[in-house]
Amino acid sequence: MQEMENIYKDLDNWLQENKEYFINLLSKLVQIKTENLPPGGNEKPGQEFLYNFVSKFIPEKDIDIFEIDDVSGIRGHPLFFGKVEDVEKQYKDRPNLVVKLEGSHTNNKNTDSNNDNSKSDNNGFNGIGKFSLNNNTVNKNNTIKNKIKSFCFSGHMDTMPCGNNNWKISGIPNSGLVKDGKLYGRGSADMKAGTLAGFLALKFFKDLNYKLSGDVYAESVIDEENGGVNGTIAARLRHPNIDFAILAESTGLDVGIETIGGSDFKVTVKEKGPGGISSDIELPNPIYKLSKIACSLESYDKDVLAKLLPPKHFSSNMRLRLLTYQIYSGGSCYAESGSVPTNGHIYFWLESFSNMSEKEVKENLINFMKNYLSKYEDFKDYFPKIENVIRFLHGHKTDLAHPAIISIKKAYNILNLPYTAKGIPLAMDAYAFKEVSNTEVVVIGPKGENLHGEDECVYLDSWFDLIKIMVLTAYDCLK
Ligand SMILES: [Zn+2]
Repeated sequence: MQEMENIYKDLDNWLQENKEYFINLLSKLVQIKTENLPPGGNEKPGQEFLYNFVSKFIPEKDIDIFEIDDVSGIRGHPLFFGKVEDVEKQYKDRPNLVVKLEGSHTNNKNTDSNNDNSKSDNNGFNGIGKFSLNNNTVNKNNTIKNKIKSFCFSGHMDTMPCGNNNWKISGIPNSGLVKDGKLYGRGSADMKAGTLAGFLALKFFKDLNYKLSGDVYAESVIDEENGGVNGTIAARLRHPNIDFAILAESTGLDVGIETIGGSDFKVTVKEKGPGGISSDIELPNPIYKLSKIACSLESYDKDVLAKLLPPKHFSSNMRLRLLTYQIYSGGSCYAESGSVPTNGHIYFWLESFSNMSEKEVKENLINFMKNYLSKYEDFKDYFPKIENVIRFLHGHKTDLAHPAIISIKKAYNILNLPYTAKGIPLAMDAYAFKEVSNTEVVVIGPKGENLHGEDECVYLDSWFDLIKIMVLTAYDCLK
């Protein structure tokens, strides 16, 4: 423990000395727009900003910048989801950034993975060439090693769109304003603070010349929001054998050992009738069907999901949601009205627990809707089309027997922070870590407010605590 106390003192001093500089760095990063705009996104300037920062202390050979299509075969991977409502996603000019601080064990070639890296020009860190999935020897048993050889701090660069300029505190969404211990701006909490924290943790080890036995990575991926996840999948395929990762989504420093899943769905109603204003034939009307479907969704949310007991790691009052986002038919203003429409749709978000499969989630909902709607004549021999708009994000569960968990507890203990391991009621890319690679993951991020909303902000004290947790945990795992 003494060692840990010593590094803690160094860390505290280092953070005190650099506090203003780091806050400024985060503010600048938040001021750079890096929105996820399906089917594309403009993460590049944010990734360049991080690249310019890390290239001052990490050698070029250990900085891997790559696009999703540099990972050859990724589009054939079962988890790759390349479309949004039948539109192909655009990945040109949207680089991932993965940076490595090399450990002292890595004088031989086995730096990046447990693969045979004598073929390493196929791999990430020599900058050239394509990574072939055939070289990826992911151990699907996910057996836990006693000794952790590599560690990763993971975050995403994309943010939800900035929206309007009506932010009450800062006026504009990209201010990076610091006020009352909080830093404001779209993406501040979700998740530029968490992402940057990983790179700062690397800088600490480098600045103070702490030598670790294994490699420590910091990464900033693209396209996580809106059910993206392809950026995470690309990073995992390219660096498949990292032992453990802290994914720094905002958790208020709770230790996220379970996450929920979910997906956006679309219900479409298409009528066979001609629509219009005919008085001599019956006009089937999608508006009536859609309103009944909306009521069935409301009932599923209130009568089914609200009564499901959450798994033990979640707060007892936590519950899954079905949120209806949009109902559309016949236009959106008077000028567009004036005839019975022929089609319409509803978009909704549906959540699930980590033990529920995609198939099960859909079947449960559809069976409920069929039953609910069967009382209406309209639905006697009709059922609408229901489809995913985005990928199905699975929930995730951390293996608590992983040795990194002990190191995390030690870090919280030294920092005198309450160690609260719990389920996080957010859907995210955590599940892709174990499904695609050999990397176990836990979600720990700073305290934030209004994620995806107006006046999104991150608490700076908790951001500094996160950097400390990252450093102490990785140090304890790799010392
Ligand atoms: Zn996020």
